[in-house]
Amino acid sequence: MRAMRLTQPDGGRPGEWLTPANVDPPQLTDDDVIIRVSVCGVCRTDLDLVEGRLRASHYPLIPGHQIVGDIAAVGSLVRDRREGDRVGIAWINHACGECRWCRRGEENLCPYFRATGCDADGGYAEYAAAPAAFTYAIPPALDSDHAAPLLCAGAIGWRSLRLTELRDGDPLGLTGFGASAHLVLQLARHRHPNSPIYVFARSAGERAFARELGAAWAGDTTDRPPAPMAAIIDTTPAWKPIVEALPHLMPGGRLVINAIRKTNADRDELARIDYPTSLWMEREIKSVANVTRADVREMLDAAADMSIAPTIDVLPLENANEALARLRAGAAIRGATVLRVAEPSGRHVRDFPDKNTSNSAR
Ligand SMILES: [Zn+2]
Ligand SMILES: [Zn+2]
Repeated sequence: MRAMRLTQPDGGRPGEWLTPANVDPPQLTDDDVIIRVSVCGVCRTDLDLVEGRLRASHYPLIPGHQIVGDIAAVGSLVRDRREGDRVGIAWINHACGECRWCRRGEENLCPYFRATGCDADGGYAEYAAAPAAFTYAIPPALDSDHAAPLLCAGAIGWRSLRLTELRDGDPLGLTGFGASAHLVLQLARHRHPNSPIYVFARSAGERAFARELGAAWAGDTTDRPPAPMAAIIDTTPAWKPIVEALPHLMPGGRLVINAIRKTNADRDELARIDYPTSLWMEREIKSVANVTRADVREMLDAAADMSIAPTIDVLPLENANEALARLRAGAAIRGATVLRVAEPSGRHVRDFPDKNTSNSAR
């Protein structure tokens, strides 16, 4: 099968990280399904992988953890998935189900957590395998291209929003305005219609995009927002936006960092954190780690119910390096990028005729 692979921890020259390869499709095991990938979303975490900030369990690795496709094969012990079902695979690929965190519904914190496209091969390929219990039926209201970014950008955005404990009417801040933030903004407007949303973004294009989607205010990283915020969600790879935003947090406010890794380029900014104005008065900083299956399901359902859709840019699988390079450059990407692996969903369902829907028999 066709795949784009990362052969070593640091993929080397920017834009040349991934190598096209023809590799064997994944092997089917008893608890797994194999899906024929239609599209796979591109996430900033993929950039952390190819630039070596995040280590995979094995190389060569097939990245990609926002996968939508149709089930091509079902393991012998799988009961609730069938060939032809349209499903998604997200970042969470395995959790033990027995540890203190799993028992408390915090499987995202499980010490045995395994991630798709990092500990297991992902969706930058024609086929991907995953435990059936870690797949999600895609609601019919969502097309595959637009469903893909919901699986991580959306799900982690949803988790971040929950972790803010925002109440309706509380001002919410967003630092950065990429794939995840533009979905958080839409979610927040539905769930907290009286909460003004202030967006801090470096590029004028992102600020204009934020206003189009309903931000009450959009400014540069160092601009002063109209009012203090009860919560802020940071989706940037840098430190400066946090340092700048903290003094605008209300007493008792919370800043949630939605990033698996921060780049070290501007670490010096951290020395500018001023305790009395940035942290005193019980302001807090909290990270968001991974996602639970419930986060993914709830995001998919919310998107279907509230007609929340990412703005997407679709590129062919073979352009994965270009997609990552654009993300790295902070290029004018509106919303999320997805890689098209096979033809759009709906067309290839007929490749998997089953006894109940076999039109070809007529
Ligand atoms: Zn991701
Ligand atoms: Zn566990």
